[in-house]
Amino acid sequence: MLGEANWHIFSCLGKLLLFDVKTGGLHELDEAGLEAAIAYRDRMSVAAQERRDRMSVATQEHAARMPVAAQERSGFVKIPAPHDNGSVATTAERLKEPAGSAIRSTLRGYGEPIGFTTHEQELPTQSHAESVVEAYRELENMVARGLLSSPFEEDEEYAPDGETVVKALCLHVAHDCNLRCKYCFGKTGNFGMTRELMPLEVAKAAIDFLLEKSGQRRNLNVDFFGGEPLLNFDVVKAAIDYCDERAEDLGKRVDFTITTNCLLLDGEVASFLNERDILVVLSIDGRRDVNDRMRIMPGGQGSYEHVAQNLVNFIQTKDPHSYYVRSTYTRHNLDFASDVLHLADLGAKSISAEPVISSGDREYSIRPEDIGVIEAEYENLTRLFVERHREGRGFLFYKMGDVFRGDIDSEISAKFRDAHVYNKDGCASCWARFICSGGCHAAAYGSSGDILIPDKVACALQKKRIECALAAQAMLKDVDPKI
Ligand code: SF4
Ligand code: SF4
Repeated sequence: MLGEANWHIFSCLGKLLLFDVKTGGLHELDEAGLEAAIAYRDRMSVAAQERRDRMSVATQEHAARMPVAAQERSGFVKIPAPHDNGSVATTAERLKEPAGSAIRSTLRGYGEPIGFTTHEQELPTQSHAESVVEAYRELENMVARGLLSSPFEEDEEYAPDGETVVKALCLHVAHDCNLRCKYCFGKTGNFGMTRELMPLEVAKAAIDFLLEKSGQRRNLNVDFFGGEPLLNFDVVKAAIDYCDERAEDLGKRVDFTITTNCLLLDGEVASFLNERDILVVLSIDGRRDVNDRMRIMPGGQGSYEHVAQNLVNFIQTKDPHSYYVRSTYTRHNLDFASDVLHLADLGAKSISAEPVISSGDREYSIRPEDIGVIEAEYENLTRLFVERHREGRGFLFYKMGDVFRGDIDSEISAKFRDAHVYNKDGCASCWARFICSGGCHAAAYGSSGDILIPDKVACALQKKRIECALAAQAMLKDVDPKI
């Protein structure tokens, strides 16, 4: 498989950056470095194309010698001729000019999980052409030493094995909700069915199923979801007790997550969640008017008043890594950076803001024409995020079958197993593939009716978010290298 996009070269908030897709390395470039990186990438592109062409010619010659029937059986396809790349030749020509100084770059080196290594030199005055050549040589050297991947290096063949191991379970303990959010993807909690709560014996059977199907995996996850899972809090508590007991007997460890709209998040619930070290996802959309436009009570009134105080009480004493506040933005609040800051001002230290998932024809749906505004807002948010960190008041910003029969629908399971980046439309050649992992299956299904075809608007936003996160990392490398 050819990973066509192993280098993502981009500019964000005044930073010129090269993201090495395969190693996760982030390299800050100056202008000469940028020009050299583009030239190097383009030259490698031509070389890769020539390699493919040579292979194509060999394949065609081989195919020509085959009988027609064998050609048809082999599925031989003629590969198109190489494209004309005149501009590359022009840039490459410039690289023949005499060499001079070194690239000035701040590098996050290969294999370093966190942080940057600075390779910065004060250079004597030199011509721009000399700087470009020097930077080009540096890039060649880094690729040769394995500090940087080659821009057109092939990805390893990926084929998930056929064994089905279950390591996580999402338990819909409540097909009911005490809110009636207008954008609810679960049809206000009941998913289009009757409003009901999961009996404990179903939760226990599901946990047995997880433990049985988890094979050699020792660390497992159970997510309590709904609707509103706290409507069925007794079952949540009993299921956690049961799961912990059984997992201990089997030498396994289960981590729990619960997603709640905060309406029932009182002191008793909070104590239990704290004692049992449960990761809690708290839903609220931000500013009062923004929240109350979409997240309404069954009687139609806004929920902010009821939700915000519970949320504030809950997070006051919490470690930021044990919860996050999740907001949803829609076409009505494309200025969502203000909502993120509002949540930070309420005391939230871990926040995420996600675009609404919808079919695209609702008044609140994000549309392709909104992408430009949203991208600018992500940059605005990144600037504010960096500012707050510099001021010392930063926050973190950030994604079958029948358990009683003990089996899994093999067709559905295979479909999900094969929904990886090498099978999803456009993902194999996308520079964001190892961070995004092909996006949300539900969002893809919601927009195209196929989990293998990601929503193009979601892709554009995902890529912009990653660019902003990388730019923030570069901007804060001296303030907080762990960002
Ligand atoms: S709180 Fe969640 S499940 Fe309930 S209506 Fe709102 S979005 Fe739907
Ligand atoms: S879902 Fe979109 S953004 Fe994510 S890897 Fe695939 S093409 Fe890239």
